[in-house]
Amino acid sequence: MHFETYIKQIILQTPDVKSFRFDRPEGLNCNPGQYMIVTIKSEGTELREPFTISSSPTETDFLELTKKLTGHPFSKALDSLKVGDKVIIDAPFGEFTFKGEYDKIALLAGGIGITPLRCIIRYATDNQLKTDIILLYSNRFDDEIIFKNELEEMHRLNNNLKVVCTVTRPSEKWKGLVGRIDKEMVQKVIPDYMERVFYICGPLKMVEAMVVILKDLNIPEKQIKQEYFPGY
Ligand SMILES: Cc1cc2nc3c(=O)[nH]c(=O)nc-3n(C[C@H](O)[C@H](O)[C@H](O)COP(=O)(O)OP(=O)(O)OC[C@H]3O[C@@H](n4cnc5c(N)ncnc54)[C@H](O)[C@@H]3O)c2cc1C
Repeated sequence: MHFETYIKQIILQTPDVKSFRFDRPEGLNCNPGQYMIVTIKSEGTELREPFTISSSPTETDFLELTKKLTGHPFSKALDSLKVGDKVIIDAPFGEFTFKGEYDKIALLAGGIGITPLRCIIRYATDNQLKTDIILLYSNRFDDEIIFKNELEEMHRLNNNLKVVCTVTRPSEKWKGLVGRIDKEMVQKVIPDYMERVFYICGPLKMVEAMVVILKDLNIPEKQIKQEYFPGY
């Protein structure tokens, strides 16, 4: 479906990531984890890119995308928009979804790949789903952890949620895991990995590496769902 909407709020999440919140278009029904095609105007030309809907269907008064700003044309055009500016949205799309159909899930995120997983966690937390969720989230630096405070808050609200972050270039104050997600880390953080359905999202290379690890652990293909963001 095709919608016209307006920016209602812009939130700086990390030094190079912003969330853009729009008035939620009436009639847009989507499942947690789905994406939209966003069209914006820049100097007379239209630019279009796909973005995860990072807000949950339970957040009924806005629709959100969360973008890593790269300095490339779309990033620049999006970052120049202001509250009140118009955007066009085509949605919903995608099969990378979770609405409570599994008892245990594991979410593996790399950087900006947290967006659909944030949506899924928010949906499960708001609906008090019984699903046992483990998020293993990898970033380069500790100040790059997107939604850090919110993930901690959801962990406090949701007894079925475990959040584990790892960083590859830790600061001196970092107390969490260090290094990329590897087989040993998956085994340690998710000991019951055979019982879980995995959702992986991040840059292509990260997603490919995770699939290799899970296959090496003999996790059946039907228990692995993946989405990757090209261009990172
Ligand atoms: C299903 C799906 C969901 C997605 N969800 C998200 C999301 O939630 N958040 C998010 O941030 N992204 C998401 N993406 C990726 C997003 O659609 C864009 O591809 C990405 O944000 C790149 O935008 P950009 O502003 O960097 O580049 P654009 O300006 O759109 O350029 C596209 C690509 O061209 C290349 N390029 C352009 N200009 C230059 C240049 N000057 N030098 C070198 N290379 C250049 C780069 O590879 C760049 O990535 C998603 C993608 C998919 C398929």
